[in-house]
Amino acid sequence: MNTPLFRSLRAGALLSLLLPLASTSSVTDWAARRPATPLSKATPTARPLQGAKPDPAVIAQFGLYNDSKLQNLITAKGKAMTAVSDRPGDYGFTVVDSPIINAFATPDGHVYFTRGIMAYFNDEAQFSGVLGHELGHITARHGQKQQTRSTIAGIGMILGSVLAPRVMQSVGGVAQQVVGLGMLKYGRDDENEADGLGVKYSTKIGYDASHMADFFQTLSRTEAQSGSSIPTFLSTHPNSADRYTRVKGLAAQARQSVGNRTLAVNRDQYLRSIEGLTFGEDPRQGFVESGVFYHPDLKFRFPIPSGWKSQNDPDKFQMAEPNGKALLVFLGASGSSLEAAGQSLAKSIGVASANASKTTINGFPALVFEGDQQASDQSSSSSTPAHVLAQLIQDGNSIYAFVGLAAPASFSTYAPQFQQAAQGYARLTDASKLSRQPEHIHIRTATGTQTLASALASAGIPSKRYEEMAILNGMKTTDKLPKGMLYKVVGR
Ligand SMILES: [Zn+2]
Repeated sequence: MNTPLFRSLRAGALLSLLLPLASTSSVTDWAARRPATPLSKATPTARPLQGAKPDPAVIAQFGLYNDSKLQNLITAKGKAMTAVSDRPGDYGFTVVDSPIINAFATPDGHVYFTRGIMAYFNDEAQFSGVLGHELGHITARHGQKQQTRSTIAGIGMILGSVLAPRVMQSVGGVAQQVVGLGMLKYGRDDENEADGLGVKYSTKIGYDASHMADFFQTLSRTEAQSGSSIPTFLSTHPNSADRYTRVKGLAAQARQSVGNRTLAVNRDQYLRSIEGLTFGEDPRQGFVESGVFYHPDLKFRFPIPSGWKSQNDPDKFQMAEPNGKALLVFLGASGSSLEAAGQSLAKSIGVASANASKTTINGFPALVFEGDQQASDQSSSSSTPAHVLAQLIQDGNSIYAFVGLAAPASFSTYAPQFQQAAQGYARLTDASKLSRQPEHIHIRTATGTQTLASALASAGIPSKRYEEMAILNGMKTTDKLPKGMLYKVVGR
């Protein structure tokens, strides 16, 4: 691996808050086994419906989840729904490699489900309801009204927030964006319409749409549970107490409209299809443990400022002060030398006067510069440009950068934390971290009538994870499982 693994981000991605990232950035992948794809030079205006292929920017951000069984399932059901939809078209359907529980549609006509949401469905009827909901956003053209919103959250949105405190306050701080995928946010009316279309389309292809409502309860439970998998679907899809009741009612009407014919749920088929699914964070792509970020494949580690939020993306690792007052981004810098990488980075983050100095950080050749970020868009006239500290470290053939940002007035408060993170950068040699593997979903069969808790116990699940597993199964720990019933567990 002698290419720079974190590539530089262009100024457009860093400075434009409201433009679709795909049109302005050159975000590429940091993990070599996910080859980078050049992005099209699309304009930020409405793109034609060409959603059959996934957007390279989305794939660069999240990675493709390589599982032909799940990819075939989403494509088959998506195509079947497209055919009975209100606006048939050449739409596409893709499962992406993110542990976050989310599903989203892009206005170009592509629907993405994360492996995180695939883990939490408990039957094909739930899956199809949500698929129909997302397809509904496309067929009802909801995204067309949202063209100027970013389709994927990235450094641009977050740095944009630093540049525009008003925006930051309106979303309750950077941290909220750091944990989310930041997808399109639709209005309540659009959500209700999409729910109705989800019921309609999934019923039309033969599924019991009432199960879609049940899935909302699973989402609410995952939201209530603490953990790394925040159900972004809920934050981008405003929930309400009556949404469950409304969808149940619509599903009952839809059932009548098809003459009360038997509608499929396909629980066992669905569960069999997710056997082996990667669950939670994939530590091969980097993981956080006890305040330290480890990357087993790239073989480095560094400490996260104490108490800060973090988010690991394929192309960068972001750390945010809990109230959004400072941001530290770790990413790859491209260039044939530290100086070249520094110049390129200074240009891309819009620091005008970079007084770069060569130094050594924790034994690694390094380059450091500091300056004010120049606001480039007219909308930021009322906001404060950020002050930036960039610390570039050369580790073998790779150059990495720690880019710290804060408002000029509070910069000195956070500069020591930016420096401590870089000073803590080190090669990863701990075998237990280097060999870390992800967890997977495994499907087990109840051997006699037993409660979910006793079934989990017999599968060797520690009791502290019973509630998490109950949510994953859409059950309570006290629910009875008849002999032969399938259930999910999680293990290596
Ligand atoms: Zn929606």
